[in-house]
Amino acid sequence: MERLHCPTCGNEVFFDSMRCVRCETSLTLRVLPDGGLDVADLAVTGGCRKRDDWRCNWRPDDGAVTTDGGPAWCPSCLIVDAPDDARPTLLIPFLSAQRRALWQLTALGVEWRTEPALRFTYRSRSAGGAAVIGHLGGLITLDLDEADPARGEQIRSTLGEQYRTPLGHIRHELGHYVWLRHVAGDPQRLGAFRATFGDETADYQAALDRHYARTDDGAWRDEHVSFYASAHPWEDFAESWAQVMHIHDVVSTGAAWGVIEPPAAPFDPAEWVSAAVTASLAANELARAMGMRDLYPFALSSGARRRIEACWQVVHFRP
Ligand SMILES: [Zn+2]
Ligand SMILES: [Zn+2]
Ligand SMILES: [Zn+2]
Repeated sequence: MERLHCPTCGNEVFFDSMRCVRCETSLTLRVLPDGGLDVADLAVTGGCRKRDDWRCNWRPDDGAVTTDGGPAWCPSCLIVDAPDDARPTLLIPFLSAQRRALWQLTALGVEWRTEPALRFTYRSRSAGGAAVIGHLGGLITLDLDEADPARGEQIRSTLGEQYRTPLGHIRHELGHYVWLRHVAGDPQRLGAFRATFGDETADYQAALDRHYARTDDGAWRDEHVSFYASAHPWEDFAESWAQVMHIHDVVSTGAAWGVIEPPAAPFDPAEWVSAAVTASLAANELARAMGMRDLYPFALSSGARRRIEACWQVVHFRP
């Protein structure tokens, strides 16, 4: 992600900043059609209807109106279905992750506002909501409990899943969306997908049942980005797509901050993967310098890299 600056005083601000810490200008943000970000003064642009409730700093589209005459929803909050009593400490991290992922889709050239348009439903299993995490025809359903740090820690220690975050969940589910949008209806891309990931017509439920009955022997590492990716071609693609989004963000952010050189050939996914390896080594060392867990806890085999690159080729690649 590029570096952002206050429109009033030029101070460094961030993707989620509600106001400038130096001059106290209240900020709004918009994603431009090319994936660039425009930061403006709330007093000039107006803000999202959910600015206070959901701590959303995006602004509505120009000319967006509501039937009650109140403020309009921004393009991100507009596609959210969340219970009125959702715990803000769980919902807000998910919505922040959702905005970041939506920015990225635009930056990567994936259209998400036309049919099959993207929508997000948030439920909490611990609050009795039926939350089956998944994707269906553009609708992504997520379990708010996944934003609970205690639960994340428990899953990390029992299941050994090193990386489990709201952003990770959203990027995975977006992989299913990208597949539906760019692969399912295109015979040429479907052929290329099957050549790399296998035949997705294999019984999905049976594959998942088999997956949950086996133990992780590490054999997946030569070919896949994760154990779960080896369960079925759809999950393989979604897990690989999540890595595309990790890599795109880590490399573009690292380059913006001068931590790494930007990819030498910006249209070549292999260059992005190579740059990500350098960026992740630096990021992991910085995390260790503070006694924290690795930021990027993945080691990518050549087979996994091949899948990530194939996944990236599926979209009209835009660096
Ligand atoms: Zn300022
Ligand atoms: Zn909003
Ligand atoms: Zn999945």
